[in-house]
Amino acid sequence: GAKTRGKNRCEIFDAGLQARAVDRIAIASALRRGLRDDRFVLHFQPVVDICTGDTVAVESLVRLDDPDRGLLAPGTFIQVAEDSGLIVPIGTSVLEQACRELVAWRASGAAGPGLRTAVNLSARQATRPDLAETIEHALAQAGLEPSALTLELTETVLMEADAATLRQLERIRELGVGLGIDDFGTGYSSLTYLKRLPVSFVKIDRSFVAGLITDPSDREIVTAVIRLGQALGLTTIAEGVEEPAQFDALRQLGCDQAQGFLLGRPKAGPPGDIAAVRAMRTAARVS
Ligand code: C2E
Ligand code: MG
Ligand code: MG
Ligand code: MG
Repeated sequence: GAKTRGKNRCEIFDAGLQARAVDRIAIASALRRGLRDDRFVLHFQPVVDICTGDTVAVESLVRLDDPDRGLLAPGTFIQVAEDSGLIVPIGTSVLEQACRELVAWRASGAAGPGLRTAVNLSARQATRPDLAETIEHALAQAGLEPSALTLELTETVLMEADAATLRQLERIRELGVGLGIDDFGTGYSSLTYLKRLPVSFVKIDRSFVAGLITDPSDREIVTAVIRLGQALGLTTIAEGVEEPAQFDALRQLGCDQAQGFLLGRPKAGPPGDIAAVRAMRTAARVS
């Protein structure tokens, strides 16, 4: 009867909750071990100037090289890292590695002086009073100039930023570090913070880019974000570009930069020559 069903449902629910809790504990301990043994590694994905085809930046994306589970993507552990506070030391390690690696690429000739590195900042990091200091330290330790670093924050972090956080962000901006908004369009939609905050770029979320060719409302949204960016003097970056038709549409709409599997998947080491861009350049010269 209904009672039994109710009870069963309840047990299933509890079992699921318990499994998730155990899972989270296991992940948290893998994160602690990863920190202790220095097993957080970065993969780098190219960001391309849509007009010139040049790689202008890489996004530095964290992975955990776990001895038991293999290479873990951030989707499997970022939430636990946030909730446990472990994202703070992990994030510091990411910042330091990203800066160091770029300097090493320059030294070996794998990167020119104009290439920048982009690092994601979580809410827990962004609201810390020592954020600016941590960033300055990472730059100084690597010997990297601030203008070669950009930081990606989410809309939610920016909207909820209190006066102290805003002062930190302004200090970082004054150093010359670029600040911008990641996954734009997926958070709360108040736009007042765009005016209030020291941001220099917006990244159009890949869910909108995915429908750019096939879904008229996605196309309208992408168009509107690019116009808004232009009106406010912000660099617009499209995420999740997988098809040449999306790249072409973005160029026609006046988007500044693009990132996605079409241009390169995240990988260890410096960005190489981008075959898709080379092919498009050849096509442009031929036609
Ligand atoms: P994000 O910052 O929006 O980074 C872009 C994500 O989209 C990356 O996933 C990238 O591999 C994926 N991506 C890039 N191009 C394409 C494409 O063409 N198609 C599809 N389907 N996906 C594409 P990844 O590396 O798994 O990272 C996921 C998220 O984890 C990031 O999203 C970011 O929010 C977070 N994350 C990564 N590294 C860090 C970090 O060091 N600190 C913090 N706090 N978060 C990080
Ligand atoms: Mg990002
Ligand atoms: Mg993003
Ligand atoms: Mg995204």
